[in-house]
Amino acid sequence: MSNYKIDTLCVQAGYQPKSGEARIPPVVQSTTFFYEKTKDMADLFDLKSDGYFYSRLANPTVAAFENKVAALEGGVCAIGCSSGMAATSLAVFTVAGAGDNIVASSAIYGGSYNLFSTTLPKLGIECRFFDPDSPAEEIEKLIDGKTRLIFTETIANPAIIVLDFDKIAAIAKKHGVLFAVDNTLATPVLCRPKDFGANIVIHSSSKYLDGHAAALGGVIVDCGNFVFEGNDRYHSFNTPDESYHGLVYAQLPVAFGTKCRAQMMRDFGAVMSPQNGFISYIGCDTLALRMERHSENAKKVAAYLSAHPKIEWINHPSLKENKYHKTAQKYLPRGQGGMMSFGIKGDVEKCAAFMEALKMITQETHVADVRSCVLHPASTTHRQLSAEDLKKAGVPYNLIRLSVGIENAEDIIADLEQALKKV
Ligand SMILES: *Cc1c(COP(=O)(O)O)cnc(C)c1O
Repeated sequence: MSNYKIDTLCVQAGYQPKSGEARIPPVVQSTTFFYEKTKDMADLFDLKSDGYFYSRLANPTVAAFENKVAALEGGVCAIGCSSGMAATSLAVFTVAGAGDNIVASSAIYGGSYNLFSTTLPKLGIECRFFDPDSPAEEIEKLIDGKTRLIFTETIANPAIIVLDFDKIAAIAKKHGVLFAVDNTLATPVLCRPKDFGANIVIHSSSKYLDGHAAALGGVIVDCGNFVFEGNDRYHSFNTPDESYHGLVYAQLPVAFGTKCRAQMMRDFGAVMSPQNGFISYIGCDTLALRMERHSENAKKVAAYLSAHPKIEWINHPSLKENKYHKTAQKYLPRGQGGMMSFGIKGDVEKCAAFMEALKMITQETHVADVRSCVLHPASTTHRQLSAEDLKKAGVPYNLIRLSVGIENAEDIIADLEQALKKV
């Protein structure tokens, strides 16, 4: 299976029925599972055999989705979570506790930024932020003996900064620190972080993986390419887990993934529901086709907007003049995804007038599904901020975020055109 190309894996990986079984994964809507022999269940609890006993730890429908995403990302194991934020939280908790720190790009999803800057410090986990464009020496200065994780995004939401994987991977390798990447906006179809040195890949599957804005979810992938055994940074992997019969995670074939599920999912319970596992699984079937279309459409829309006299600036890596065009050619050669931002000439009222004049493209806080949608942070999500604070947050007052869908590009452009005519 792993020899297949990504397009084929999207369709075929994750679930193989036995003769006479359902062709697509059934929704196993059951919290619990039946066993005849006490020993069979005991072996499951001891992680001596694979199987299901309680849906907080594993469920067959969620497993189909997990196996598909693991195959797509080239990982050894994946863990389905209740949301992208749950995935990010559990990934951090798997390696860090009070007194530890993580080092993260400052250009990340707002929810992750809040988790790292406000909530984790309350639990004693410090987060040190770096500008992803800063040189390696600057970033390295943030790493010390208590650093447990470097966290980045392939395509930063909403800044649309493309990650320089080589730079971060070299730092992580040199210091023996785990390198985690949120790959939500690129998806494994456009970029496979493992190929560029990442150890852990995280997704909000609520976005492109599901693709239809139907199911909230998250997933953590263990790429299986990090050696915990003997690494002093990872004490909790190299000492027995007394809450799990003295298991030493570093000695297992899948260290991170096992600890994440057996300890963190067990204790926090932020599990993906079977129904959402099913919807997300089905969504992934068409992921390769969709990502191709999102990227093609976005390229056409970006070219159109960049030539429009009422547009002040536009940010999409498909454009030659874009700061991240070269980086994107290296890491995202197949397409740069559907997310872009641009600024309209004029004031906040003009932006609002433009948004309201759109007929097909709707205003939403969600991004990365089949339907094109827009958001004007200055008059919605960020409306409490002053002009000065907006600037500091990297969100100019005239920034409009556009998530380009898979409609016909001519219809998307026509809608933008008629709305721009009205402002
Ligand atoms: C939406 C998003 C998240 C959070 O995911 P939820 O499923 O909404 O919890 C995390 N990272 C990125 C890049 C996102 O776009």
